[in-house]
Amino acid sequence: MTIRKPVVAANWKMNGSRQLADNLLQQIQESGVDKQLQVVISPPATLYSYIDEKIIQNKLEIILAAQNINELDKGALTGEISAHLAKESGCKWVICGHSERRSLFNESSITTAEKFVKAQSVGLKPILCVGETTEEYEKGKTFSRLTAQIEAVLHIGGKTAFKDCIIAYEPIWAVGTGKPASPELAQDVHRFIRGMISSVCPTTAKSVCILYGGSVTPENAASYFAQPDIDGGLIGGASLIPEKFIEICQTA
Ligand code: PGA
Repeated sequence: MTIRKPVVAANWKMNGSRQLADNLLQQIQESGVDKQLQVVISPPATLYSYIDEKIIQNKLEIILAAQNINELDKGALTGEISAHLAKESGCKWVICGHSERRSLFNESSITTAEKFVKAQSVGLKPILCVGETTEEYEKGKTFSRLTAQIEAVLHIGGKTAFKDCIIAYEPIWAVGTGKPASPELAQDVHRFIRGMISSVCPTTAKSVCILYGGSVTPENAASYFAQPDIDGGLIGGASLIPEKFIEICQTA
């Protein structure tokens, strides 16, 4: 029996609008999926306050998550958003180390770990994204890549770092490509991640939610959610179509 509540998170990246937010929130309300599992929406920062107000007004049980924060508290950092600012805008969780941040914005595993720890220090729950590149996958380096990404967080956050967080396994070759990892492969990697957490903190390993992300669709979602170590999904493209996102939630 699992003690973990399924989580389905929408990662809008640099997409969406107030209109899409209204549409998605209305469909979530009508379907009632927010009462059945943990629904998370991670929109662009300009929509944080707007969506937060709607969640409160309509008594929705949706978690608002930031897509990124800076690891520092404040300063001359034009365009950046601190953990405090994200929290003040209504965010409860934050994505740390998405592969697009790592590859397009050169964010290292150390920077990601600093963001992770900063988020926790202000009461934001981090969603730590980990995953290997195509080349690493082809060379059989998936586990060593993930080990390095997770160890960076342990190094900066200590043994209890994973006590209050979510982990998302997102193989880079599966993100936005329409070529998802097979459910069996994803399960193997999730088991590996849980084993790593277990070696430092066995109780946390049982409770930590590990999501799969990478080309999840309404058609394939159930095959992931049926795996014992997959506790939900981080959804990119399909989260921009409310009907598809709700369908994925309904399979979790
Ligand atoms: P995708 O994106 O579902 O479009 O593959 C997932 C993600 O980047 O979180």
